[in-house]
Amino acid sequence: MKKPPVHILLDPEKCRGCGLCMDVCKRGVMEVREGENACGCRPVIVVHPEKCVLCGLCIAVCPLHVISLKK
Ligand code: SF4
Ligand code: SF4
Repeated sequence: MKKPPVHILLDPEKCRGCGLCMDVCKRGVMEVREGENACGCRPVIVVHPEKCVLCGLCIAVCPLHVISLKK
């Protein structure tokens, strides 16, 4: 799938799978990945970057600062 010029970047290896980002996202951009990451968590991954409206809510709520904007 094609990513927009500016898009969110989520590092699944640092994610703890708390789900806060998915709770605030109204666009269905992310979902929980199958399998554990290096931290022993099932991380959230970005599956529909084209649906993201760059509202920044997921970035604001992530306690671990796993999500950022990337050009
Ligand atoms: S920036 Fe907004 S629309 Fe994009 S993934 Fe985060 S919460 Fe969803
Ligand atoms: S809020 Fe951060 S740590 Fe929690 S699931 Fe989302 S990316 Fe992972």
